[in-house]
Amino acid sequence: MPHSLPSDKALVPFVSVDHMMQLIHHIGIERMLQGLADYIEADFKRWQLFDKTPRVASHSDEGVIELMPTSDGEVYGFKYVNGHPRNTADGLQTVTAFGLLAAVDTGYPVLLSEMTMLTALRTAAMSALVARHLAPKDATTMAMIGNGAQSEFQSLAMKAVCGITEVRLYDSDPDAIRKCAQNLAGQGLKVTSCITAEDAILGAQIITTCTADKQYATILTDNMVGAGVHINAIGGDCPGKTELAPAILHRADIFVEFPEQTRIEGEIQQLPADHPVTEIWEVLAGKASGRTSDKQITLFDSVGFAIEDFSALRYVLDHIDGTAFFHPLDLLADPDDPRDLFGMLQRAK
Ligand code: NAD
Repeated sequence: MPHSLPSDKALVPFVSVDHMMQLIHHIGIERMLQGLADYIEADFKRWQLFDKTPRVASHSDEGVIELMPTSDGEVYGFKYVNGHPRNTADGLQTVTAFGLLAAVDTGYPVLLSEMTMLTALRTAAMSALVARHLAPKDATTMAMIGNGAQSEFQSLAMKAVCGITEVRLYDSDPDAIRKCAQNLAGQGLKVTSCITAEDAILGAQIITTCTADKQYATILTDNMVGAGVHINAIGGDCPGKTELAPAILHRADIFVEFPEQTRIEGEIQQLPADHPVTEIWEVLAGKASGRTSDKQITLFDSVGFAIEDFSALRYVLDHIDGTAFFHPLDLLADPDDPRDLFGMLQRAK
């Protein structure tokens, strides 16, 4: 049964994984990817308003657990997210997440949501939003290297937001290629499965790398990257975890979310700290150029930034009112007399 967002401030709307999936189907995945790209673009255009900090990361040999906070002065948000590349061997996700929005004036949460699905959608929407500004204007084909959990979302966002018509799939695990090709069948894209990464990038104007390995990996070597392509590098997002040969970085114009975070986590951790990069918000706000020539190699060194999650949570909050896709959650103690928390406990005996 559809319901309105709770007027009782102690009840917090909670969007479960099941509800998130229903919401995505209700809106339509491509429409939602377009909507998320619009919300992210709107928030990046008011970049200066936001509190910004590199995410707080707790590293282990197996992976990383991170908190990603931000605020625009009226709303505060954070995401909890992990990255554990070896999890899939045990039947677990590499990346899982949940997140929260709160009202700055009271500090009370206004939304709690799963964000494993939502992160895949927002990462894809961000990739496609950036590609819309940096990829060659006539781009029709994307090489998708790394065909894990993010890959179908990345492919559909590039279709919905940038209008690509073909994806060329490659993964070191043939089962992952098969899974991705099956999932993308009937989605309106020409899907070509490839047996090498070199084969996958043939004729592609956009190259997305989205692999998971906790090392300085070389998914793309220098000789694989020709003039004029746009590289969307997603998988290098943690210290000691990269995907591109350093020589590519020296030939490319590099665009980043928040340099203070990307220099720690992105491909550019392989470069000197003063290597020039462009902040993507400046391109979105018309303050810096994106692609300026047909020959230019553009690189989006994506690591994922808190404002993208904030935008995604804002989108969800704006779209659940009047639907059945949330539970009102009894998350906050709410005594009748705010100073009588103990009395409330006694009365509950
Ligand atoms: P996943 O584990 O589901 O998929 C990763 C895939 O990469 C697997 O299919 C694996 O076989 C493949 N792979 C590993 N090494 C490879 C190689 N050398 N060549 C080709 N394929 C290889 O992970 P996922 O959830 O799809 O995430 C992919 C990566 O993206 C992770 O590193 C994750 O941390 C990162 N990520 C980044 C963002 C961002 O905002 N930038 C957001 C989400 C995830």
